[in-house]
Amino acid sequence: MPLVSMRQLLDEAAKGGYGVGAFNVNNMEQIQSIMEAARETKSPAIIQASRGARAYSQDLFLYYLMRAANELYPEIPLVMHLDHGNSFETCKSAIELGFTSVMMDGSLLPDGKTPSTFEQNVDVTRRVVEIAHEKGVTVEGEIGVLGGIEDGHGAGGTGLEHVTDPDQAVEFVEKTGVDALAIAIGTSHGAYKFTSKPDGSVLKMDILIAIHKRLPNVHLVMHGSSSVPKDLQDIINQYGGKLKPTWGVPVEEIQLGIRNGVRKINVDTDSRLAITGAIRKVFAETPEKFDPRDYLKPAREAMKKVVALRMTQFGQAGHAGDYAPISIEEMKKRYAAETLAAK
Ligand SMILES: [Zn+2]
Repeated sequence: MPLVSMRQLLDEAAKGGYGVGAFNVNNMEQIQSIMEAARETKSPAIIQASRGARAYSQDLFLYYLMRAANELYPEIPLVMHLDHGNSFETCKSAIELGFTSVMMDGSLLPDGKTPSTFEQNVDVTRRVVEIAHEKGVTVEGEIGVLGGIEDGHGAGGTGLEHVTDPDQAVEFVEKTGVDALAIAIGTSHGAYKFTSKPDGSVLKMDILIAIHKRLPNVHLVMHGSSSVPKDLQDIINQYGGKLKPTWGVPVEEIQLGIRNGVRKINVDTDSRLAITGAIRKVFAETPEKFDPRDYLKPAREAMKKVVALRMTQFGQAGHAGDYAPISIEEMKKRYAAETLAAK
């Protein structure tokens, strides 16, 4: 199966009424964890790399690792997605490299920190849509600004400063033609999302539902949606870590989102916690070990476990074999023929 477009995966998810987790990677072990989880749960998979990941691993290493994943797990529809492209040039380079989907985060200026104006966001996103669709590649845009900072990207804050305005969301989709829309509803990047279990005062599910009512056919994306489970925090702290108490987005809130148009859910922190906990445990219990495989194998297994659990909770499990892949070439034709025009 070739690498597929994210548009196809999300269209299928919308038909089936489920969500698809998009898991961040920086290295081979994380890619292996996701692919093993996808195989075990029979899930379609979105693997995403941020600018930070591309800098850490180098583009070509990442690209060929994804190609290897694709060859080794031919039964899994797999999307290679750029997370938080900060500029037209970043998205263009990802498309040229072979990513089948890109996010143009025009909610921030190219510095990745300063909120942009609506007009600036529309302009850069529309230009990315143009070059991406010409190649059959999917585009995710963002309207509203998320909280927190991760990999040096983000405006900081709690995530409530720039919650998405539903009217603007409608105008943004009409003017840009994006395939998927990331919205800001109070979530933040990183481990420290909420200081207590979130309720409607900090996690604005009502806004998400209002946006879905206005844009019933648009694939919504929830960012900063790790659940930051206490058991994973506890393992880290039990073996010498010093995480402060923190709360993520409860899985039941994500499931409410999925019932209201959310098709892509971004998860990174949960994987990071699982890996770090597993490594700390080996270091603490068997300090005489020094072969990296002794701690990377359990780390890989721990990440696989949390990814497989999320795949099941989001509903994508069991759907890997539902559909034949549409090639990027064919997607290119469909965009040109406007059979995939903006909703
Ligand atoms: Zn994000």
